[in-house]
Amino acid sequence: MLVNDTIVALSTPPGQGAIGVIRLSGPKAIAITDVFFKGRNLTKVEANTVHYGKIEDEQGKVIDECVATIFRAPKSYTREDVIELSCHGSPYILEQVIQICLRGGARMANRGEFTMRAFLNGQLDLSQAEAVADLIASENEASHDLAIRQMRGGFSDQIKELRQELIDFAALIELELDFGEEDVEFADRGKLEALVEKIKGVIKELLDSFHLGNVIKNGVATVIAGRPNAGKSTLLNSLLNENRAIVSDIAGTTRDTIEERLNINGIQFRLIDTAGIREAQDSIEKFGVERTLEKIGSSTVVVYMFDVISTKPEALWADVERFLNASKVLTANATRIFVANKMDLNPYTQPEDYYKEGMISKDNLLPVSALNKMNIEALKEMLYLAVVDNPASMDQTIVTNSRHFDALNKAFESLDAVLNGLRSGITGDFVAMDIRQALHQLGLITGEIHTDDLLDSIFTRFCIGK
Ligand code: GDP
Repeated sequence: MLVNDTIVALSTPPGQGAIGVIRLSGPKAIAITDVFFKGRNLTKVEANTVHYGKIEDEQGKVIDECVATIFRAPKSYTREDVIELSCHGSPYILEQVIQICLRGGARMANRGEFTMRAFLNGQLDLSQAEAVADLIASENEASHDLAIRQMRGGFSDQIKELRQELIDFAALIELELDFGEEDVEFADRGKLEALVEKIKGVIKELLDSFHLGNVIKNGVATVIAGRPNAGKSTLLNSLLNENRAIVSDIAGTTRDTIEERLNINGIQFRLIDTAGIREAQDSIEKFGVERTLEKIGSSTVVVYMFDVISTKPEALWADVERFLNASKVLTANATRIFVANKMDLNPYTQPEDYYKEGMISKDNLLPVSALNKMNIEALKEMLYLAVVDNPASMDQTIVTNSRHFDALNKAFESLDAVLNGLRSGITGDFVAMDIRQALHQLGLITGEIHTDDLLDSIFTRFCIGK
C-alpha cells in the first residue's frame, strides 16, 4: 500500500457553501501548497499556525483569498504534514484549487484515505478509525455517545491487553512444540485455562451488548398494528407531538409503509404505520401483505392497538391470533406491547378483562387514551424498556459494529475449542492452532492484523476527504 505520496481532497460537502475546506496530506503537502499560496512562505512557518494569503494559478491569476492551517508530522490527524485550506465555498473555486494541487504533484485522495493513513501511521487503531465513520453518520444522542466512546479507545484497549496475554501463552506453547519429541511443558495448563475462561467472559459480554448496540445505531423498527379506527394515527400523533419532523418512505417500498422517528432517551424508534398490515387484519391472504411483513421482518417491537369501546376480549384474542399467524416473520423475536385505547370513553371495562394466558398480561398491556394523551409517557417508558432491559447497560461497553461482532463470535468459538482441547488433553500443536485462530480474530478488530481487502472494505464506507 503506497503511503508516501501526497493526497488532496475537498473535506467539506460538495456544493456551494460559505467556506469549503481542501485538505492535503503527505510529505509534499507544504511544498505543493507553497507554490500557489502567496503571502507567506509556508515552508518556513511553524506547525499549528494559521495564515492568510492568496491562491494564484500558474499564470498568476488570483483564484481566491484563503486561510491555510499548517500541521507538521507527526502532530496531525494523519501523522503526516497536513494543510487545510479554507477557501470561499464556490464549487468553481474549490475545483480550480484542487486542480492546481493535482498539477503540483498531489493525487486525489480515495474515500477515507486520510483516516486510513491515520490508522497505518499508528494514530488510531482500526476500531477507532471505524468509529470516526460512525461519528460522522451518527444521527442521535445515543449513537453519537457510542461513537465518541469507541473513537477514544472503547474496548480496543481491553482487547489488546487480553490478546497480549494470550500471545504470551501461545509463545510458550510454540516453544514446547520446538522441543518436538521431548516431553516438556512450559505453559501452565491451569493458568491457560483460567485465562481463556476470562477472555471468553469478556467476549461474551461484548457479544451480548451487540443487540443493544445495533438498536442504538440503527434505531428500533416499531410496528403499530391494529384494526382501522383503533386510534393508531392518533397515537402516532400523540407520541410524536410537535416533533413530527422526519417522514420518509422506507427504501424500496411504495406508499404501503410510512416511517416516522421518535426519540426516547436517545434511542431512536422508527415507527412504522402500515397500510399493508392494517388490511391484513381483514384479508390475511391479500397479495403483498407477506412482502410488506418481510420488509419489516426485523422489527423489534410491535405495538398492537385496540379500542376498548368496540372490542370485546374474545374478538381481540381472535384478532391477535390471526395477526400473529399472518405475520410470523415479523413477530418471531419482536416484543409485543398491547395498547387498550379510548379509555377516556370507557369507565367500565377493566384492562384485566383482556388478559389471556401466554398472550396478554399486566406486563404487556397498557390502557391509554391516545386522544387525551393519557399514559403516553408510560407507553414511551414501556417502549424504551422493551429494548434496553437495564438502563445502566447504556454506560457499559457496547459493540455496534457487525464486523467486530463477527470477529468476536469467531474468537469465542476458537477459545471454546482451546478449552475443549485442554480438557481432553490433546497435543500442544492443536491447542496452538486454536489459540492462533482466536488471536487472529481479535487482531482483526483492532487492526493489529489486517489485509488490504479489509482496509478497502472499511475505508470505502467513508466520505471523500475524511
Ligand atoms: P386508526 O384508523 O387506527 O389510525 O384510528 P384513528 O387514529 O384515525 O382514530 C379513529 C377515531 O378514533 C378518530 O375519530 C379519533 O379521534 C378517535 N380516537 C382515537 N383515539 C381516541 C381516544 O383515546 N379517545 C377517544 N375518545 N377517541 C379516540
